Amino acid sequence: MTKQLPTHTKVVIIGGGIIGCATAYHLTKLGVKDVVLIERKEMTCGTTWAAAGLVYGLRGTPQMVEMTRYGSELYQELGNETGHPTGFVKTGCINISTNEERRQELEVLRSLADSLGVENLQIDMNELQERWPLLNTEGVLSAFYMPNDGVVNPVDTAMSLAAGARTGGVRIFEDTEVLDFEMKNGQVIAVKTSKGDIQCETTVLCTGMWSRELGRKLGISVPIHACEHWHFITLPIEGAYKGMPYMRDPEGHLYYREEVGGLLIGGFEYGAKIYGTKGIPDDWSFRELPEDMDHLEPMMQAAIKRIPALETAEIRRITNTAESFTFDNMYILGEAPGIRKFYTACGMNSSGILCGAGVGKKTAEWIAHGYPASGHIWEADNRRCFSWMMNINWLKDRAPETPGNLFGTRYPFKQMETGRNVRMSALHGRLAEQGACFGQLFGWERANWFAPEGVEPKYEYSFGRQNWFEYGAAEHMAAREGVGIYDLSSMAEFIMQGRDALSILQSICGNDIDAPVGKVVYTQLLNDRGGIEADITVTKLKEDKFFIVTAGATALRDFDYIERAIPEGAHAFFIDVSSAYAMLGVMGPNARKLLEKVTNADLSSEAFPFGTAKEIAVGYATPLAMRMSFVGELGWELYVPTDFAVGMFDALMESGKDLDVKMIGLHAVDSLRLERGFKHWPSDIDPESTPLEAGLGFAVKFNKGDFRGKKALLKQKQEGLKRRLVMFTIDDAEPLIYQEEPIYRNGELVSSNTHGAYGHYLGASVGMCYLEQAGGIKEEWIKEGSYEIGVNGIKYPITIHLAAPYDPKGERARM
Ligand SMILES: Cc1cc2nc3c(=O)[nH]c(=O)nc-3n(C[C@H](O)[C@H](O)[C@H](O)COP(=O)(O)OP(=O)(O)OC[C@H]3O[C@@H](n4cnc5c(N)ncnc54)[C@H](O)[C@@H]3O)c2cc1C
Repeated sequence: MTKQLPTHTKVVIIGGGIIGCATAYHLTKLGVKDVVLIERKEMTCGTTWAAAGLVYGLRGTPQMVEMTRYGSELYQELGNETGHPTGFVKTGCINISTNEERRQELEVLRSLADSLGVENLQIDMNELQERWPLLNTEGVLSAFYMPNDGVVNPVDTAMSLAAGARTGGVRIFEDTEVLDFEMKNGQVIAVKTSKGDIQCETTVLCTGMWSRELGRKLGISVPIHACEHWHFITLPIEGAYKGMPYMRDPEGHLYYREEVGGLLIGGFEYGAKIYGTKGIPDDWSFRELPEDMDHLEPMMQAAIKRIPALETAEIRRITNTAESFTFDNMYILGEAPGIRKFYTACGMNSSGILCGAGVGKKTAEWIAHGYPASGHIWEADNRRCFSWMMNINWLKDRAPETPGNLFGTRYPFKQMETGRNVRMSALHGRLAEQGACFGQLFGWERANWFAPEGVEPKYEYSFGRQNWFEYGAAEHMAAREGVGIYDLSSMAEFIMQGRDALSILQSICGNDIDAPVGKVVYTQLLNDRGGIEADITVTKLKEDKFFIVTAGATALRDFDYIERAIPEGAHAFFIDVSSAYAMLGVMGPNARKLLEKVTNADLSSEAFPFGTAKEIAVGYATPLAMRMSFVGELGWELYVPTDFAVGMFDALMESGKDLDVKMIGLHAVDSLRLERGFKHWPSDIDPESTPLEAGLGFAVKFNKGDFRGKKALLKQKQEGLKRRLVMFTIDDAEPLIYQEEPIYRNGELVSSNTHGAYGHYLGASVGMCYLEQAGGIKEEWIKEGSYEIGVNGIKYPITIHLAAPYDPKGERARM
């Protein structure tokens, strides 16, 4: 191993766990030279050494599945390449259900597996017992087997990746701690270590549970908190055999695998014990924490119930150590917002082994190409980590819930229970008085549905129609037939102002922003490939001042994307004013009637046409009113300074009484927009899809001059589209859909649902999917097919729509 730390290098990777090793390995594969990996103590001494080594293939999204599939394939081959075997054994995995809810959940998971191409086989109790002789099958309702899963030796796997990296030229330094960073012009230009400084262009933080405090040194948000995490291993037990599938018992929050003739048992409990709030001890190296038998006892009892032989088995070892968990069970990857060429690859939530290779590959791509070329991964993108999330009190409260959720029942709309009431609309109290049932999105408490009087506003989760289904239907129909109000104060607002503001926005928007003052321009922010980075509106307030509106969830990402487009020295001031505004939508055929009662502004289509904005008086408030609608009805979005929001809300509700105004929750907003075919980033549109494929070509103005992505879009236009986003409705009125359900054309799996909901006006579930045809997609081909969707293992016929199945065609929405 080289001893002398260099003074210069191109890339510094911090952390010698599996993620640092995998990143180093993949950088060499992409031809990135001059890479140094720095580890404070010994390789794998953080968390990697302790892992159980399960490589579980069925993750929640296509990107996650792809990452794991890739890892699993690499781990099988890696030993041949590097001479260091990973210990991969393709054991397969069995999931069992032990109550009705879990049985239904397994059906949902099987649909997901079908859709994502993960091989899974339902097995009967005989086969289950045969494969798992030690299992007490009493109370087991169903089981499915995924033959391609396996186990590895985590340390061998990390060291094999490190060996491959070394062969590719990466220099590795142990016993070298990164202490600080030197910044210049928004970039880390040197890493300060216990053995001297290294100047560098690119830095990657692969420091597991140390990452939060290292991130703090740079003012970036890496909201993770370590929790204790454990497994125990028994001496050999008869019935445990080499190569037996590992088993997941989600209801017991337990997993089991064979280990040297005995069993390794681990768990994912709710209320995990937090660790390292004040930081991780300096001397941490392969550290084991004291066992807390009181804490482990309930899980041990559950394990004995499922595997009676454990009662008399001797425990060889209990490993209790720590792992980092994030607020939402997702990793923290990508280039950190606000800092150039500084990447994070941390927050592994006890899946750093199974996803390690995939994370390393994505991170290396990000560094080499400027984006994750094998597919975006928004769910794990660090631009979802807002600065407020570094609040240690919040992290401390939230982190213990995260491990449990990994094995929690995956009900649709399930909400986190801890760390609530962080960000609340100025109208929160009023919404609560109206019976709001709140859900949390990136900290925002949002009214998802409203309980009628006498009903408790509380989710009763199930895989069927949940308790709020009928209330959501009434809210939906109020917008279609009367008038409704929703609070979307979680939307983000930015101001861009200055002599160069227009040209900057023109350079990244597909649509023409050079519109008259007061015109609202709906546009996508595009990347060089013509892909959609964001879906926003831009309103010219003055010749040099623009009001930009985007979704709250993507506020940080979109802000960063726009900010990076501002050339050095440009005359443009760009600020996030989201906390300054509340937003109320007043929507429905009676929206004008309602507003006319509280304003003397002329709301006629002649005076206030669709797609325009102006300040009007509403009660005593003076919101910026935008004639837009995300729900496909006549309506106005009212952007009001937060301190005027309550007054404006009261005025609207009072005036709406005789119009029977209803509160609309965000579940209804979603079903309304789906019926009308409005797209949502990132489920329906994303950096890999273009406006032309998504039916948003109307928002691209090729003749406005040059803009990012134009070349790619022109090429796509010339060559013809290969795929197209279409809508569908299920012919049967019963099934409910959410995301990623498999879509079949003439019996063959061709796509999956990007996002779906129940369309209460249409009387059926409605969703969107991409259809692809080799050699160019033709309408005729789409129409000729016969289509089905898989819902919980049953295939239902669907009707494909080339245009939105609900469209008031101007009569109502634009009147
Ligand atoms: C009991 C248990 C069971 C698990 N089972 C599984 C499983 O079956 N499957 C699975 O996929 N995952 C499992 N995991 C999770 C898995 O082990 C982790 O997700 C993974 O090891 C994290 O890897 P990492 O590289 O991010 O972090 P680490 O392995 O912690 O590596 C980070 C490294 O950064 C170094 N470092 C920190 N600060 C500095 C600094 N300032 N300068 C230099 N170096 C620094 C540390 O010393 C450390 O070596 C399990 C974890 C536990 C605890």
